[in-house]
Amino acid sequence: MRAATLAAAAEITRLGAGAVETGAAALVKLSSDWSRMSPVLMEKVPPGRYVADVAVRPRTGDDVAAILAVAFSAGVPVTPRGAGTGNYGQATPFDGGILLDLRGLDTVRVNESGTVTAGAGARLTTIDRAGRAAGRDIWLFPSTKHSTAGGFLGGGSVGTGTIEHGTTTDGFVTAATVAPMDGSGRTVPVSGAALEPYVHAYGVTGIVVEAELATDARREWVACYAAFDSYRALTDVHRQLLDLPVRPRLASADEPALVPTLTTPVALDPGRYSLRVIAEASTVGALTALVRGGGGNVVAVLDDYAETDRLSGMSYNHPVWFLQRARPQSPLFHMEIGGRPLWDDPDAVRACYPGPVHLHLELFGHGPGAMLVAEYRSEEEVLAGIPRLEAAGLDVHSPHQWFVDRNVGLVLDTAARTDPKGLLNPGKLLPEPPSGARVNIGVR
Ligand SMILES: Cc1cc2nc3c(=O)[nH]c(=O)nc-3n(C[C@H](O)[C@H](O)[C@H](O)COP(=O)(O)OP(=O)(O)OC[C@H]3O[C@@H](n4cnc5c(N)ncnc54)[C@H](O)[C@@H]3O)c2cc1C
Repeated sequence: MRAATLAAAAEITRLGAGAVETGAAALVKLSSDWSRMSPVLMEKVPPGRYVADVAVRPRTGDDVAAILAVAFSAGVPVTPRGAGTGNYGQATPFDGGILLDLRGLDTVRVNESGTVTAGAGARLTTIDRAGRAAGRDIWLFPSTKHSTAGGFLGGGSVGTGTIEHGTTTDGFVTAATVAPMDGSGRTVPVSGAALEPYVHAYGVTGIVVEAELATDARREWVACYAAFDSYRALTDVHRQLLDLPVRPRLASADEPALVPTLTTPVALDPGRYSLRVIAEASTVGALTALVRGGGGNVVAVLDDYAETDRLSGMSYNHPVWFLQRARPQSPLFHMEIGGRPLWDDPDAVRACYPGPVHLHLELFGHGPGAMLVAEYRSEEEVLAGIPRLEAAGLDVHSPHQWFVDRNVGLVLDTAARTDPKGLLNPGKLLPEPPSGARVNIGVR
């Protein structure tokens, strides 16, 4: 494979379709992602075990199409990569070949219709800034706001904006330009329902080179911090946030165990339960009344937009990562779960794993989601908890595997056409993903 890849890289250089990287250290770095959040994945896909033969850095969609045409005729695998913040090992090049570093496709334009069209490598930070300057709010962005548009569509799912707008497969992408791996050397426009097999498909159906993203009219958002004395008081208010006149952009909540390692600009009492809300400015009065009525208190209301970004940077996986970073000696794992037992019967949720179990909550339009955090002893113990969680009435998605887990049948059918040789991101698409890889939290 290495010889074929080097020959393909020489041809790509001759065509001027992208700079070729062959440095060993750079290739190890580009071939790994944030799977280090999972002790299971650290055993299976540690940095350096699977490394691309070369990395190629295109700058345009035509470059990407030309690279795929060369790879197709040489039979060389291609694995796309944005910022590498995916935490399932899903950008790891299992069969070597070409690592396609898409960060150079970084154009952003706001359209007259209000949508934003972004190159695959444009960062969500840049896209949001351009949208806000033009009076628009993009619907969604992950807590890793520096990740790329292509990577978020290819591997992400939810984030700030999810309470109102769901996941990346709920209308966030209005159109895209995709490069298939079919030898055509072309890019194709895709829109409407035809987009489905390209979103959250880890690039196995084609490389997204550009995407048009949905926006709302810009609103004024503020960062609100509140504290409570009990889990019950916290969750009684968490659930009522869905009734605010304008739904919050984000509502994260943590048990005391997760509070001291949060990166807050305000001092939080480490003994209390923390609620952090990105609220629309006109709803702060109603939110304050809810918090006080629920026996809590508002710790701070910060109206600088940058503070809402900081609050977003403490959501979803981030509190888990902060705790892992603070306790390198005692490994922790997390499990993505969703369902009302998180509000109604948290002890039944905690009982699914031995030892201390902590819950970081997020809010979806239909109920709560959570990152469950517990001490890691073995993969068997992690997997054994999945059926217990399901029996407790929760949706479960395991972040300890790299298989495509959404619209699998449709993705398989599409890939048969758009990647007939199976060269795109090999090893990620199975007809039957393993247990815990079938349901994606927030999808339903
Ligand atoms: C601390 C932490 C917090 C996180 N928080 C969130 C969160 O709030 N919400 C969320 O959804 N995720 C979250 N994630 C996961 C991750 O950030 C998202 O998957 C992210 O948006 C990926 O973007 P990226 O640019 O880093 O993509 P990468 O990690 O580089 O790629 C992700 C996947 O998409 C594929 N891909 C990359 N570019 C393209 C392309 N142009 N076309 C097709 N496929 C492509 C890759 O092969 C890979 O399979 C978090 C991860 C960490 C470590």
